[in-house]
Amino acid sequence: MKLSELQSHIKEFDYAPEHSEHYFLKLIEEVGELAESIRAGKGGQPDLAALKGTIAEELYDVLYYVCALANIYDVNLEKTHELKEVLNKAKYNR
Ligand SMILES: [Mg+2]
Repeated sequence: MKLSELQSHIKEFDYAPEHSEHYFLKLIEEVGELAESIRAGKGGQPDLAALKGTIAEELYDVLYYVCALANIYDVNLEKTHELKEVLNKAKYNR
């Protein structure tokens, strides 16, 4: 799935611009859960039965709320990636 497809998928059932602060707070909450999973050393690619509380799950949760916020603020993350690549190539001499 492309990032734009993930953004569109999330927007279909979870899009509430009037609750933008809620999405931001959820993002921060998920970053905290990611920190816990990293501290617990729960890396690797788990299957469904073992997904709960892993780095994989929490990384996805962070990505979910990044996409949800991008939707609320009308940001296309794929386009932004292209623009940032140009800036980063110059900044970091890639
Ligand atoms: Mg989580």
